[in-house]
Amino acid sequence: MQSLSGQRSQRRYDILIRNGEVCDPGRNFRQQADVAVLDGKIAAIEQNIPADRALDVIDAKGLYVTPGLVDLHTHCFYGAGGVSIEADPISARSGTTTWVDAGSFAYDQVTGFRRFAVDTSRTRIFGYMHLYPPLSNPDVDVVKYVRSGVRRTGEAAIANRDIVLGIKVFVGSNMNGRYSYDFLKIARELGDEFKLPLMAHISLAPPEIHQVLELLRAGDVVTHCNNGHTLGIVDSGYSPKLGQLKPGVAEARARGILFDVGHGAGSFNFNAARTAIHAGFLPDCISTDLHSACVNGPTYDLPTTMTKYLYLGLSFDDVLLRTTANPAKVVGRLPGMGSLTVGGPADVALLEMQRGDFRLVDSQRNVVQVNEKVVSRLTICRGKRLTAV
Ligand SMILES: [Zn+2]
Repeated sequence: MQSLSGQRSQRRYDILIRNGEVCDPGRNFRQQADVAVLDGKIAAIEQNIPADRALDVIDAKGLYVTPGLVDLHTHCFYGAGGVSIEADPISARSGTTTWVDAGSFAYDQVTGFRRFAVDTSRTRIFGYMHLYPPLSNPDVDVVKYVRSGVRRTGEAAIANRDIVLGIKVFVGSNMNGRYSYDFLKIARELGDEFKLPLMAHISLAPPEIHQVLELLRAGDVVTHCNNGHTLGIVDSGYSPKLGQLKPGVAEARARGILFDVGHGAGSFNFNAARTAIHAGFLPDCISTDLHSACVNGPTYDLPTTMTKYLYLGLSFDDVLLRTTANPAKVVGRLPGMGSLTVGGPADVALLEMQRGDFRLVDSQRNVVQVNEKVVSRLTICRGKRLTAV
């Protein structure tokens, strides 16, 4: 038995990342250290681990070694809609190891979501379930119809709670016309009955933001929080003059409601973000809302979205916290996710602060110039290099 345990201690690590600066803001950890990976888990975080202890040795000199990035708002299942994209190729180049699909599937598509997105991806995938069954008959009472699907939605979410985080609902006069506030009320009832958190998309008023927030509870997520539209958290709109937080927003945060970026094609505006940050209101989570209409610009990926918040004055740790530990807490399905801890999952990103002249573009095509941007040099997910195939 002695020799067995002796053998085990001599076993080589699968991967050893040496000479990097380990940054894990979720637990206030930042120092030069080596990170060893074995069997899909973090096996050691120590100084000076000898190179001959591993089969695959990575020199991370000049790089940040961070928890794999967690993107709380994406679209990676070809269900409802049709704007989705495949996670793995983008994860491979962006340091992202977890994607949360924001409502690309409904109760009758969750089996397909599991089979063709969750099970086939090397990236970890979770999702919020879309509230409404598809409807094409204009003679049907829409609110009654949506209500008729509530029980099946709740039951399907509960039956798949290992991958389904809650219910996605679209709120705004441009989403489902005058019915979207009714749908939010239905989602609220569903959330209460089945104890499921909500993720609420916000875009154009009516309703007003305080009406939306009144229906949300602790653990619910407002996505597109820096959108610059009429249903937003600040009153600046597109004006360069700094505005203020709208009534009810600070109170909602105090009640435990979370605010997520969800950049997307139309939902991130520099002035809106600047106004909120100026008012001391930073988003809880920074996410991309990545889909086919924004992956080739203006969003591109999570490191580019992180760079926009660095430009807006957040520190690297501020930004990293909002793309690792904070969204991982919302996911809440895997202990240690969003952090680098011995025994925890070996989801790791190697990030670099690249210097040069770069353009950043928001959803309204406002352009800013910056001289540094976050780029990913390597993604390790479940203890393996995630490479584009
Ligand atoms: Zn979305």
